Amino acid sequence: MKKIGIFDSGVETPEEIILAAGLIPYRLFGDPTIEPDKANEHIPPTHCIWTRNLLEQAIKGFDKDIIGIIGAHGCDRTNREFDIWIECLTIDFMFFLNSPRKRDESALRFFIDDMKELIIQLEEHFNVKITPEKISESIKKMNVIRKLLKEISEFRKKMILKGSEFHALVKLAQQQNKDEVINILQSKLKELKTKEPFPEKNVKKVLLTGSDIDDTEFIKHLEDLGFHIIIDDLGVGTKYFWNTVDENEEPIMALAKYHLNKPIYSTKFPSYERFEVIKNLAEIYNVDGIINIAQKFCEPILYDHPYMNKKFKELEIPYLFVEVTYNRESYNQLSTRFSAFAEII
Ligand code: SF4
Repeated sequence: MKKIGIFDSGVETPEEIILAAGLIPYRLFGDPTIEPDKANEHIPPTHCIWTRNLLEQAIKGFDKDIIGIIGAHGCDRTNREFDIWIECLTIDFMFFLNSPRKRDESALRFFIDDMKELIIQLEEHFNVKITPEKISESIKKMNVIRKLLKEISEFRKKMILKGSEFHALVKLAQQQNKDEVINILQSKLKELKTKEPFPEKNVKKVLLTGSDIDDTEFIKHLEDLGFHIIIDDLGVGTKYFWNTVDENEEPIMALAKYHLNKPIYSTKFPSYERFEVIKNLAEIYNVDGIINIAQKFCEPILYDHPYMNKKFKELEIPYLFVEVTYNRESYNQLSTRFSAFAEII
């Protein structure tokens, strides 16, 4: 089946509309084993490394099954770089979804209009009919996935499922055929129910937050240093499934409300509310500490850090902020900082 690539820092693309068009939503991830050499010809190397990495892959050419790209309004990087994508890619269908920065009434109306425009463009380009019934059906399917992921996520708290395994599952859910995803998640849940917890001794239970952290090897690296990601506040994580879409409301309205009401990301206004999201999760999950990771030159996370640092200090919740380079070799260089944090918590 053909796929629509999603270039989105805040998981705000309504996948249900893509599904209703008979296509597979396929969230684009970086590849930390490559350098953004070609992308650097278009974008200064002081811009977010994650988006440069994605552009590098786009210039080199995606899988032929990807027949369209939707970019969603996120940070300044994803917004501005989409224009460069249009210039550099040979893919015909390119759509920029203007998901609003604010979350008020006018933002809701604006988002609904933009989703309607997406529907028109998909219908015209791919000669399909996207009916409200098809969108409602897709909402139900996505809600099944959200609920399964939320249930599975709790096995991290029960010390049965590793954070890295869960991270890989969320990535899979964001890229594969959704019917297959449901089957995989259902059998994973069944398997987890039969498992015993792993030993807790010397394990530091942390909340992981930050930029688009899509490299599961990075999570494994943290685990090797003695951390267990008991809960997260990530796009490859809770932001993707924490809430569900109202199945009884008009589908486009329901989708717009869902995206404007889910746990806020740093690219949205007021971004300082992200502190409340993290604080609540940290308290509910009784974490030993919080790790906030910024991809190199990720401005939204860099801007939020001083405020978070101050607030978590006031609350006496251990907090570590680290800026990482999107490159696996660099992970080892950060081990000392992570290990020092593990020692103090
Ligand atoms: S990592 Fe940061 S700067 Fe880069 S796309 Fe995501 S939010 Fe934007």
